[in-house]
Amino acid sequence: MPTAPRAASAAIRAQQQSALASLPFSDTRDFEDANRGLIAPVEAPVVADDGTVLWDNSTYDFLTGDAPDTVHPSLWRQSQLAAIDGLFEVVEGIYQVRGMDLSNTTLVEGDEGIVVFDTLLSVETGASALALYRRHRGNRPVKAVVITHSHADHFGGIRGFVSQEEVDAGRVKIFAPDGFVAHAVAENVYAGTAMNRRAAYMYGADLPRSPQGGVGAGLGQTISTGTVSLLAPTDVVTTTGHEETVDGVRMIFQMAPDTEAPSEFLIYLPDFKALCAAEDATHNLHNLLTLRGAVVRDPNGWAKYLTETIDLFGAEVEVVFASHHWPTWGNDRVVEFLSLQRDLYAYLHDQTLRMMNQGLVGAEIAEQIELPPALEHAWSTRGYYGSVSHNVKAIYQRYLGWFDGNPAHLWEHPPVERSKRYVEAMGGVDAVVEKARSAFGTGDFRWAGELANHAVFAQPDHAGARDLLADTYEQLGYGSENGTWRDFYLSGATELRNGQFGTPTETTAPDVIGQLTPSMLFDAIAIQVNGPKAWGEKLSMDVVLTDVDERYRLRLANGVLTYSARPQPGDADATLTTTRRALPSLALRGGLSADGLAASGGELSGDASVLTRLADLLDPGDKDFAIVTP
Ligand SMILES: [Zn+2]
Repeated sequence: MPTAPRAASAAIRAQQQSALASLPFSDTRDFEDANRGLIAPVEAPVVADDGTVLWDNSTYDFLTGDAPDTVHPSLWRQSQLAAIDGLFEVVEGIYQVRGMDLSNTTLVEGDEGIVVFDTLLSVETGASALALYRRHRGNRPVKAVVITHSHADHFGGIRGFVSQEEVDAGRVKIFAPDGFVAHAVAENVYAGTAMNRRAAYMYGADLPRSPQGGVGAGLGQTISTGTVSLLAPTDVVTTTGHEETVDGVRMIFQMAPDTEAPSEFLIYLPDFKALCAAEDATHNLHNLLTLRGAVVRDPNGWAKYLTETIDLFGAEVEVVFASHHWPTWGNDRVVEFLSLQRDLYAYLHDQTLRMMNQGLVGAEIAEQIELPPALEHAWSTRGYYGSVSHNVKAIYQRYLGWFDGNPAHLWEHPPVERSKRYVEAMGGVDAVVEKARSAFGTGDFRWAGELANHAVFAQPDHAGARDLLADTYEQLGYGSENGTWRDFYLSGATELRNGQFGTPTETTAPDVIGQLTPSMLFDAIAIQVNGPKAWGEKLSMDVVLTDVDERYRLRLANGVLTYSARPQPGDADATLTTTRRALPSLALRGGLSADGLAASGGELSGDASVLTRLADLLDPGDKDFAIVTP
């Protein structure tokens, strides 16, 4: 029987009141901007053929009026803004569909057709957004798709706009920044299972949408759950200042690699005096390290590219729109918005390094850093998706890594062993829960959470400890201004109360798998090898790809699978002959088998046992691994 959510505590109610009093709620320009140019709202949910609801923005209809005391008033405000949906005119000739996925799609009208900037995450939401546009603006053909960066919420819906056939026939161009395909597919190859499980926490995949549950992720409401697709670009842009004209739409590109994404560009449309800022300037502090896990982004480079954006286009730009959130109009306001975003990333970077060089560690800097008043009181710089706290720790990590230099932290016991010893030192689990309860009573939820977490890790079946930890995470969620913090805390409470929900939103997209290079696929197999189990195994296999005339030697020894594309001495134990096109299916779960081989049309010669011996060593990861319990 699932446990019902609890009310906000007195401490959280007081905190929400003080946020209401200190933040500039009288500044309502964002609401004017988010509603400006509305042509038509989104009419209906996006539903799959089998009836599954893939996107239903009306589940957020409760976001009206004043914030309830279970939601931080600033996050409530941001969620109200992000939930405003529909087809909007940005300026005459530029239209956006917002509130139909986590991200936006923008449609720029040319001589006869449209140029599409970003395609949403799912084929189904993408197709629905295009249909909404066409109902109100006519049945214009898609002439080009411009993909601003390598995250799936910007390319995943592309087959909802164009088909491979249209691209092959030369009727539609696809523009993307240098390195797009490699980065678009690489992110999920290595740490995909862990990232997907954590992403389910981050986006509150199992949370009901309600004032006690999910209210939005800050960057947008949440992710759609349809089919992710990928078409390879026809035109890869590599240089800043590069110009293209498609269907009369003039575009000037600015490269911004290693900012919000490893492969990203911004686009200026001179005839509209409009800037597409991709995801480098949105109405929040973005992530330098997303909570699902990633490589840390570079705030220093990010700030420098925004300086270049202002230098290049600031003199004449009249409107800025992005891949998330609503546009900003008027030259003064656009330049102010871009400058605040730039200053935010630069300030976090510089101050973290300054304090780091004074000897402070990440957790201390996160606690001590203060933003200047102009950044603290602008709505567009608040931490709805990234946060000052976790971004500062990420900058520390980028430069100095996990070790803070204190030898006490060099060789600590792992979580369960540490918790057992702490609990014993504090007088046993009941005493620890009692201390945690009194911390909860005083509103010190951070300490209550630390104590109750030790109790749960020392004795996971202690019902009192689990209940208290769930209640504590819930209050921390209610108090979070950051959408993804709220989701993490409330997801933790959910699993403690109702059991693990696994990875409900995981999708394996054939289009994405199909773009993996042979090297990436071999890596994907190598990271599944169970090392200790493979210590005694030794085998080698040549992989011959007939359609691209490539040959690889795979070798398993010492518990590790390595490979080389250079000519190798001697014969391998076996030779697998297949095609570049068929190879991906072999790297998927169960692909390395006689059936998988037959299905892919591959042939094996030599020692046929090689394939099954390798397959027996694979350990594909656990989509249900524990997070808030040991
Ligand atoms: Zn995005």
